[in-house]
Amino acid sequence: MHGKEVVIAAAFRDGLGLFVDTIRHIDTDALGTFTGEVPRVGTMRETAIAKARLGMEASSLPIGIASEGSYGPHPHIPFVPGGVELMVLVDDVLGIVVSEHLIVDAPAYDHTIAADAQELTPFLDRIGFPDHAVIVKPNQPEPGSHSIHKGLRSHQALAGAMAECSALSRDGLAFVQTDMRAHMSPTRMEAIGRLALRLCKRLSASCPACGVPGFGQVDVETGLPCEWCGGPSLMVRYQIYGCVACDHREKRPRVDGRSRADPGQCPECNP
Ligand SMILES: [Zn+2]
Ligand SMILES: [Zn+2]
Repeated sequence: MHGKEVVIAAAFRDGLGLFVDTIRHIDTDALGTFTGEVPRVGTMRETAIAKARLGMEASSLPIGIASEGSYGPHPHIPFVPGGVELMVLVDDVLGIVVSEHLIVDAPAYDHTIAADAQELTPFLDRIGFPDHAVIVKPNQPEPGSHSIHKGLRSHQALAGAMAECSALSRDGLAFVQTDMRAHMSPTRMEAIGRLALRLCKRLSASCPACGVPGFGQVDVETGLPCEWCGGPSLMVRYQIYGCVACDHREKRPRVDGRSRADPGQCPECNP
């Protein structure tokens, strides 16, 4: 629905030689929307798998790809916005689901409250309007009112929506937020493209034990030895690689080659 196939199909064609077909007339918004009119049921991964299965049913193809995003407070850094993008490949021939995710540090995700379009200039500059579209609705809507303007990408359309929505709000203000649908957010679309490449990379690695594609990092083990005392720190010591089909696991050293931890991350030296 949101044009993600442009970046996803390119990644799968170039990365794996897979041809991605897109199915029209599937309403994935039924599985949850960014604006919350339809709440998402289940985890991001479950929703993405359900989306992929909708496409597989409609196309009668045994392999499906779908993605799902979630934006809000940054998952690791306090008080800044962040996003998580997740993509799955469901393969009913091999009986596997392979997923990959990406944390978006600078997501062009924000909101504000204003009486009219003139007040919005700093906000619009910050989020990269009009390349990034916005959504406008009354800040305090009258009960029963469902006024909402999505995908606004011109100053004229925005001014009209601001006038209408502030007039419909009990406090005379409009609520303005970034439209996070992929075709309305170039920053998000770029993240989905990067994620598709990551998923292709994971799919191009086969399990050393059973040969099924999708072998990649599934966990980490902390306890990198402290530089001062040699005890186990909170830093990652091993990356755990795993298979999506069998129980095969491998411990691999950190990719950055680091073998000693900062004493600041040691519970003994820096309690
Ligand atoms: Zn220590
Ligand atoms: Zn395996």
